[in-house]
Amino acid sequence: MTEIWLGLGSNLGNREAAIRRATDLMPPFLSDIQLSGLWESKARYVEDQPDFLNAVVRGLTELGPELLLEAIQAIENEMGRDRVTVVPKGPRIIDIDILLYGEKIIVSDRLVVPHPGMRERKFVLLPLLQLDPSLVDPVSRRRFSSFLAELPPQGIYPCESTGYHIPYP
Ligand code: ADP
Ligand code: MG
Repeated sequence: MTEIWLGLGSNLGNREAAIRRATDLMPPFLSDIQLSGLWESKARYVEDQPDFLNAVVRGLTELGPELLLEAIQAIENEMGRDRVTVVPKGPRIIDIDILLYGEKIIVSDRLVVPHPGMRERKFVLLPLLQLDPSLVDPVSRRRFSSFLAELPPQGIYPCESTGYHIPYP
């Protein structure tokens, strides 16, 4: 069993339902699932699109990294994400990325793990740190919490409905 971390995002339709449904579809390949709080964030990269809702899922899997990627892409597809017509970094019902696969470092055509953007994205770091405040980046050997302090404001805040009370970052 390997501990893995997934980043989830949605900015179309009922975003909270999409994140919960995606998580509900994971038990066939993921056990001991933990879902972070939900975080609202301004779209980055392609800015002219609705705000995102983001969360992080942590769990244990028997699947290797490539099969895990296939399993999460099957969920994206089942939830109606159209991979052909979609704008890169544009609006999507659900996006699921592999953030961490144990301490494994992977660089292939299909997969880069740890996810290369995760250290600069508060919408990844904040929910990740809710689940494990002392988690360490296997590449730099730094705590993920140490990256947060270096980042500018990114227009992200915790959703009140989740009951989390973390200072406005
Ligand atoms: P993005 O998440 O960058 O907006 P997509 O979700 O459409 O874009 O993913 C594009 C491709 O990124 C996938 O087909 C997958 O092969 C590749 N990829 C590389 N590394 C990862 C990762 N860590 N998690 C998920 N997909 C990844
Ligand atoms: Mg993706």
